[in-house]
This record gives sequence, C-alpha cells and structure tokens, in this order.
Amino acid sequence: MKILFFGPNGSGKGTQGAIVKDKYGIPHIETGVIFRTNIGQGTDLGKEAKGYIDRGELVPDSITIPMILDRLKQDDCKDGWLLDGFPRNLTQAQELDKALKEAGITLDIVIDMKLDRQIAKDRIMGRRLCVNDNNHPNNIFIDAIKPDGDKCRVCGGDLKTRDDDQDADAIDQRHNIYYDTETGTTAGLLFYQDVSAKNDGVPRIVDLDGKNALPEVSAELMDKLDA
Ligand code: AMP
Repeated sequence: MKILFFGPNGSGKGTQGAIVKDKYGIPHIETGVIFRTNIGQGTDLGKEAKGYIDRGELVPDSITIPMILDRLKQDDCKDGWLLDGFPRNLTQAQELDKALKEAGITLDIVIDMKLDRQIAKDRIMGRRLCVNDNNHPNNIFIDAIKPDGDKCRVCGGDLKTRDDDQDADAIDQRHNIYYDTETGTTAGLLFYQDVSAKNDGVPRIVDLDGKNALPEVSAELMDKLDA
C-alpha cells in the first residue's frame, strides 16, 4: 500500500500516521523526522537544513526531492510506504508523480486531513515531544493527551519542545506554505485530486476531519481506509 498523508502542522498527522503504518506494516517516512535526526547527528544534511527549518521555510527541493526518492528505493519500501510531510509543494508533488510513473508504481491512497488554521497553530504550541519516542502523543492544550505532569503520558519519559514549535512567526510561515493553493502544499494536494479525478479515482482520496479528538479521528480514518 502506497499512501500520501496531507495535513497542516498541528493536525495530528504524525500520530494518525503511526496508526496507518501499523495497520499496513509499511514504513512511515516523515521528512521532518529525517531532517531532525540529521540535525541531531550533526550531519552535513542536518547543518544545511537547520536554518530553513528554524525559520519555518522549506528545505530546498534540490535537497529534499532526491533524498525522498532515494529513500523510496530502499528495501523496506518495496511493499509500500506512508509518506508524511512530502510532497510539501507543487513541484515535489509533480516530481513524485513523475518518478512513480517511471518506476511503474501506483499510488493507492491520498489522505487529506483538514484542520482550521488557528486550531492547528494552538495545537502546535502545546505539543511536547517525548525523548524516548517521537510518536508518543503529548499536548498541554489537549485534554485527551495531556502529559503526566512534565513527563510523557505514555512512558514517563522527559518531554521537550521543538524550537520551531514555539516561534509564532515560524508557525505562520509553515502554515502559509501549507495553505497556499498556487505553489504550496495545498497546490500539491489539488494536483493529486486532479490526477485521481482523471484516473477513475486512483489514487483514492480520503478526507479526514482533524478537529475531533484523536480516537475519533483514528476511528474515522480506519473506517474510510477499510471502505
Ligand atoms: P515537520 O516535522 O513536517 O513539521 O517538518 C519540519 C520542517 O522540516 C519543515 O518546517 C521544513 O522546514 C522541513 N521539511 C519537512 N518536510 C519538507 C519537505 N517535504 N520539503 C522541504 N522541507 C521540508
């Protein structure tokens, strides 16, 4: 199963993505995580990406597109993958489409998780990352996933914030890119909706309402994936 997961920063996409990954037993490829891992390890890629990420800008396509296309060629991707955070603009969407067609790979599903911009912003600023597992959900502004004091509600691990999560200007910048229908992430989504409309509904577009509580969103997602 080959899946793209669209949703604004703060929509809970990472959390739902982890559930989709488990359902199909496919790798969950998150561009943001790849960049942050590289920054943490002090690699050349990390050094190059850091400034862009801190400002809430996209890392240039010349770095990001080959990085992801190479990742999709790795062995663990041969039976499927879940891409989360890519494509993030129209060019990335078009380049991915081209590369998949050239490789004879069919994209099965595009998930479109919708969330109002202001709600997404509040959620980002409340988000806390568990040092043990990036996918342990903790948010000081969401009752269902409030941390246990200052510790991870899942494993008791220490929590930290992402620098780019506490910078309102950087968040606005990321959302400007996401909601841009001309060249930004929404333009990439519209591109795939158009591909689907012209190709008998392939890939299947799955709409998801991100404003509900996490378990409800997961239930809606599972129902729609099974439909
Ligand atoms: P995320 O964890 O998805 O919020 O991504 C964090 C940051 O990584 C973004 O604000 C961008 O700076 C960078 N990034 C993630 N995905 C991409 C992408 N597909 N293209 C360019 N930059 C990206």
